[in-house]
Amino acid sequence: MYNAGSEKAEEFISREEIERTLEYAQRVKDDMSVVDSILEKARETKGLSHREASVLLACNNEDKVHEIFDLAFEIKQQFYGNRIVLFAPLYLSNYCVNGCLYCPYHQGSDIPRKKLSQEEIRAETAALQDMGHKRLAVEAGEDPVNNPIEYILESLDTIYGVKHKNGAIRRVNVNIAATTVENYRKLHDAGIGTYILFQETYDKAGYGRLHPAGPKHNYAYHTEAMDRAMRGDIDDVGLGVLFGLENYACEFAGLLMHAEHLEAVFGVGPHTISVPRVKPAQGVDPASFDGGVSDDLFAKIAACIRIAVPYTGMIISTREGQGVREKLLRLGVSQISGASRTSVGGYVDDEGPEEDTRQFEVSDTRTLDEVIKWLIDLDYVPSFCTACYRAGRTGDRFMELCKSKQILNCCHPNALMTLKEYLMDYAAPETFRAGERLIEKEIGAIPKEKVRDLVRKNLVNIQNGQRDFRL
Ligand code: SAM
Repeated sequence: MYNAGSEKAEEFISREEIERTLEYAQRVKDDMSVVDSILEKARETKGLSHREASVLLACNNEDKVHEIFDLAFEIKQQFYGNRIVLFAPLYLSNYCVNGCLYCPYHQGSDIPRKKLSQEEIRAETAALQDMGHKRLAVEAGEDPVNNPIEYILESLDTIYGVKHKNGAIRRVNVNIAATTVENYRKLHDAGIGTYILFQETYDKAGYGRLHPAGPKHNYAYHTEAMDRAMRGDIDDVGLGVLFGLENYACEFAGLLMHAEHLEAVFGVGPHTISVPRVKPAQGVDPASFDGGVSDDLFAKIAACIRIAVPYTGMIISTREGQGVREKLLRLGVSQISGASRTSVGGYVDDEGPEEDTRQFEVSDTRTLDEVIKWLIDLDYVPSFCTACYRAGRTGDRFMELCKSKQILNCCHPNALMTLKEYLMDYAAPETFRAGERLIEKEIGAIPKEKVRDLVRKNLVNIQNGQRDFRL
């Protein structure tokens, strides 16, 4: 029985409800009066239910698909403006006891195993700071012996403690396996930003097949992880599915049902949704799975997510190449990774372990500076802002900021100030010049004169060597 407010995975992601949703979407997708009424509701920018959004995803009418894309763009502009937040993953350890068929870190794989020492983590963090990164996503396989929670906590402490030249990591998000409320509370107390956990697939039977061994085999424990994270006081959680494994329409409905569940139980939806697609990796051929998603369909999925959950950030990683990333930035993505290494130790030793221990192939191999310059040329404001979480604006307080559309008076200035820091400390000359021009132009977009003046003052302070201003 479907119940968004239930604590049980099988009830808040009910298989029956997913099937009914897909049937309904197929039945009405060509009825333009239904599609139009959903689009009309979407224009109120308060979001859509999983059923309504699934109809839009199923609709193939060319004009309506254009409308969906245009609306996604408008909503993106309205809530997020032209800022794009940057981050990088940091792989701590690829020891893993799970059996995920799509991941070369699975137990029994002959991939070389590596776990970073605290000294190596300091070196990786310094290398990331030297690129200009301020925000990381820590990644690790699940292994209670090699990667216990104490190791993750110690590593977080190490990362936050590295102050290399003008660098600092100001927000560390964590992407580790589902764990207990107690451990989530420890992560919260260690000062993590978002807790990220991909569901991989919301198809319970498929989930069982794809995760034949290890603790991750337990579908309910994995699916209920965000509830435990919330109970452990982490109020920014990041959802995601690994597109390409199972039927995309089922994943899409499940993802939105999960978001509705968090909203129903905790009064706040997911902070972010990630949209990874399965990529080639050692011993992993994406074509061997059932749910391949074309680039066009992928764009439509992103647009429909943007419309369905306007207040939720959307993340795309370097799994995708420049072209796909460019398309999705327009349609709703608000955060991207740059210059990522998916190997353990890959930032310091980008020749050696990268080939051996990497989790999957990245498609976007540009340097961070190339990514920054590309964003500026496209008229986006690259942002290294971490202010909300550091000011305690997490969970519903962040959502309030977003809903009240105060982002232009708050996030936009912060983005400009952190971009200025990047330009002063790390940018190549051409990026510097393009960035300075962009900042000058974008100051005009700040509505409040007082805020504009403050930003101008702080930009001069940054020019003179001071760092870390935020509103
Ligand atoms: N070990 C943690 C867990 O099991 O949830 C999370 C960390 S894992 C390093 C991060 C994510 O990488 C996984 O959740 C999965 O979605 C993704 N991933 C694994 N293999 C992949 C592949 N071949 N292509 C793309 N993404 C992959």
